[in-house]
Formats: sequence, structure tokens, C-alpha cells
Amino acid sequence: MTQLAEPRPGAGDAVPGAGERVNHWVAGRRLPGTSGRSGPVFDPATGAVAREVDFASVGEVDAAVAAAVAAFPGWRATSISKRTEIMFRVRNLIDAHRRELAALLTAEHGKVPSDALGEIARGIENLEFATGVPQHLKGGFSEQASSGVDVYQIRQPLGVVAGITPFNFPAMVPMWMFANAIACGNTFVLKPSEKDPSASMLMAELLKEAGVPDGVFGVIQGDKVAVDRILEHPDVAAVSFVGSTPIARYIYETGTRHGKRVQALGGAKNHMLVLPDADIDMAADAAISAGYGSAGERCMAVATIVAVGDVADPLVAAIKARLPKVKVGPGSDPAAEMGPLITRQHRDKVAGYLDSGRAQGATVVADGRDHPLYRGSDGFFLGVSLIDPLTPEMDAYKDEIFGPLLTVVRVKTYDEAVRLINDNPYGNGTAIFTRDGGAARRFQFEVSAGMVGINVPIPVPVAYYSFGGWKSSLFGDLHMYGPEGIQFYTRSKVVTARWPDPGTSKIDLGFPRTR
Ligand code: NAD
Repeated sequence: MTQLAEPRPGAGDAVPGAGERVNHWVAGRRLPGTSGRSGPVFDPATGAVAREVDFASVGEVDAAVAAAVAAFPGWRATSISKRTEIMFRVRNLIDAHRRELAALLTAEHGKVPSDALGEIARGIENLEFATGVPQHLKGGFSEQASSGVDVYQIRQPLGVVAGITPFNFPAMVPMWMFANAIACGNTFVLKPSEKDPSASMLMAELLKEAGVPDGVFGVIQGDKVAVDRILEHPDVAAVSFVGSTPIARYIYETGTRHGKRVQALGGAKNHMLVLPDADIDMAADAAISAGYGSAGERCMAVATIVAVGDVADPLVAAIKARLPKVKVGPGSDPAAEMGPLITRQHRDKVAGYLDSGRAQGATVVADGRDHPLYRGSDGFFLGVSLIDPLTPEMDAYKDEIFGPLLTVVRVKTYDEAVRLINDNPYGNGTAIFTRDGGAARRFQFEVSAGMVGINVPIPVPVAYYSFGGWKSSLFGDLHMYGPEGIQFYTRSKVVTARWPDPGTSKIDLGFPRTR
């Protein structure tokens, strides 16, 4: 069943700072909020409010940005080798503390410990990539571009950059951003999701311990007030965002209007195309893992299976047979493979698609509300759900559901399947399951999505490539992390230099020639 990214430890690990109020992190220390505004942080497995998180005022955002502005000249001038050494220490400290970090993710997001450790492992890969910054920042050099003239290109940091992150990866997505941003010499202000804010504070402490100077990394907790101040702040040079499509569009439009460089990653509706020649068991295992892992709250989760021709019946039967084996439960249960959803409201919204699907003519093959934890617990649980067949006009196809609800669309041909995927407004990830190399290659060539899996259901690129979707899944020009992350967090400068032999100096009012 679900592949474990890590051995099973973690269930029952102590939660750092349990019950304490979550503050901001400014100039290298905890800053208790003074705005008088705060929000609840739930334990999704019990439904209880576990702690409160401060919501920043405009003045508190300004203080975090001011600390980042003050730290920038010194950090930028710090040698690349020193910054590299610090990034190695950040990587090692986060790795050493991954169980504490995972315990925070389980406590506030609800994902089971193996999933939380998997998230952290993928985040750490970005820290490892960032330790290669001496190589990434190498420019180009052209000797003798003209007589006695050399031309070279250097990459310089932007200044203060900000990251605004979603609830579903409270450790990994910040690492996607700050690893490269800081390694390149920028200073960074993070606005994490208010739903699971504590991971950001533990990472801030670890960065300080690793030797990241005060002000180079700051955290500002909050909601729209904090986000809007970041978007209009004159000292913020660039904004990286990951979240839902409507907010991504808003961030991109508002940030660029204020003259900032913006990359804004949005929502998704990922299709898994299964051809008639596919290995049914492998495809069914993949659909279950990618559809229900992390309770479907992954932007790369499989949302819709597109079954071509006569593969549909045996595939749906194989998926259905596996559903009772998925262990739903709290992260404290070592047997649990899938935890609760993030909030009651979101859980109920996901469940609502079962009703709308049924009302619009689809068949609900499995209803997650039949799971005993749906009614028998105050936690935000929903069991695994399956709708088949679904048609593209139905709400459960049109909307991003972001929960443990898999849907099946049946089509007659490969061409019909690709048309369906390419007509969808989202273009984050997609996958094809087949034994036919030619069909897979054609799919890779034709499909409109930023990340493609071939017999791989969740094709999240490794850290030395870049992550990003197409269409309404990304606003901006550059994808996140990897080489495009380095490009995003730096700007290039080209220097044309002459060191003439004083004996050859003369006046020439003509336009500079190279030949
Ligand atoms: P969200 O858009 O609600 O929130 C993301 C961030 O924006 C949070 O920090 C939040 O505080 C802030 N925000 C929310 N509403 C705002 C508003 N009106 N004005 C200003 N800021 C606002 O997203 P979420 O629910 O936290 O995360 C789930 C979404 O993120 C899903 O749509 C998922 O597909 C998407 N996601 C995308 C990727 C990707 O790489 N494309 C990765 C992870 C998650």
C-alpha cells in the first residue's frame, strides 16, 4: 500500500512548545505580537484548539522587513564559502531535528508521522541543492570581446525577498524558498500559513543556531493584513507564493503592480491517464497512494483518473478492493496511513462533493462519511471516497477538491483523454500509466502540464530541477527551486571592462565597436 518515505518512528513524539502562543521571529528573536489579533491553531485529529497564533499588524511586518533590510548589506558581503558553510549547518541541524519538526506537522496539519518525515526529507533536498551555491552563482566570462576588452556576467542577490506559504507543506514549501534565497545572499521574510505556523518558528531557531545572522531570516505570522503589507512594501524586492489559484492570481497582480518580481504557484487538478495496456495492480496502487496520501491535501495529488477504453472496469475494481485496507486515524496511531483534514469546514466542503456528484448523476462508489471516525470523533476525519463515473460538467470535476476523494472519468480513446487534460484550466502535474514507450513519449510531447510522470503518480521534481505548473497553476515566469529558483532570487549584471596598456590610449568619439 502507501510507500513509506521513512521508517515508522514519530507517532507519539513530544510536540515542541505545545500549548504556547505562536509569535513572530524578528531580528533573530521571538517577538510576541502586539496587534491584539490572533487566530486558533487546531489539532485536526481531536478538533481542539491547541494554541493561538499572533496575527501581525502593518507595523509588525514593517519591523520584520526593517530587520531584513538592515541585515542585507552584511549578508550579501559575506563570502560565498562562508554562506555555503552556514547552509551545510542549516541542512544538518534541520536533519537532526526532523522528528521534532515532524511532530509539529502532525500536531497542526494532521499528516501522519511517516508523511511528515517524507515532507521534511524533500525539503532538506533543497537545502542540499543550496549548498552548491558556489557553482550556481558562477557567471560567464568572455576574454577579448573587443581588443583589450573583456565582458563578464555576475549574478547578484535582489535584497529583501518574501515567501507566503500554504498549510499543506508547512516545512517543505518554506524550504523550497528560503534555501536558495538565503544562499544567494538575500534576506528573507516568511509568512507561513496561519493554520500550522509552528514549524516556521522551529526552523527559525535552527537557522540561528546554524549561524544565520539575525535579520537574515524572519517570520511574520498572520493573515491578509500581513500579506497585503508585504505586497506593497517598498523594501520587498520579490515575493514567492504557493497556495490556491485565486490568491495566487491576486498575489501576482498586486505584487507586480508594486514593481516586485513575483512567482505565484496556484492550485491543481491532476489527471492520471491509464491506458488499456497498463499494469492494473501497479496503476491501482499508484492511484490509492497518490489520491489518498496526506488525505489528498497535496497539490500533486491525483484527483482524477482518466480510464481509457476497457481498462476502466478492472481498474476501478482493483481500486475498490484496496479501499478498506487504507488505515485512517490520528498521527498518534502507529498504524495510521491517512490522517484528518486541516479544518472541519474544509472536511465538510470535500464531503459536499459526494452529494453534488450524486445529485448531478455520478455514482458514489465509496463514501468517506461511512468511516467510523467521521461521526465517532471530534477530529476532522473523512474516510477514502471514490466517484465513478464522473463527467467534466460536474462540480467534482471542475473544482479543486483537495481531499481524499478520487474520481474516475471514462473516455474511449487516448486522444479524448489528452483533450480532456489539456482543456482543464489547471496544469500542475499529470501522469500516464502504460507499458507502451511510444504512447508515453507522445503524451510527454502533447500534454499541457508543467510536471509529467510516466508510471510515476506524483512527479515532484528532484531539487536540482525546478517545480512548477502551467496555466492557472502558476503565475509568473520562473518555476520554484532548483536552477530557476537561483534565477528568481538573483539578477544578472554584465560588466564590460578595459584595462588598457596606457601606451595605446587615444580619443575616439565613434560608437564602441567590437571588430
Ligand atoms: P491559500 O491560498 O488559502 O493560502 C495560502 C497563503 O495565502 C496563506 O499563507 C494564507 O494566509 C494566505 N492567504 C489566504 N487568503 C488570502 C487573502 N485573501 N489575501 C492574502 N493572503 C491570503 O491556500 P491553502 O489553503 O493554505 O493551501 C492549499 C492550496 O495551495 C491548494 O489550492 C493547493 O493546490 C495549493 N498548493 C499549490 C502548490 C503548488 O506548488 N502549485 C503547492 C502546495 C499547495
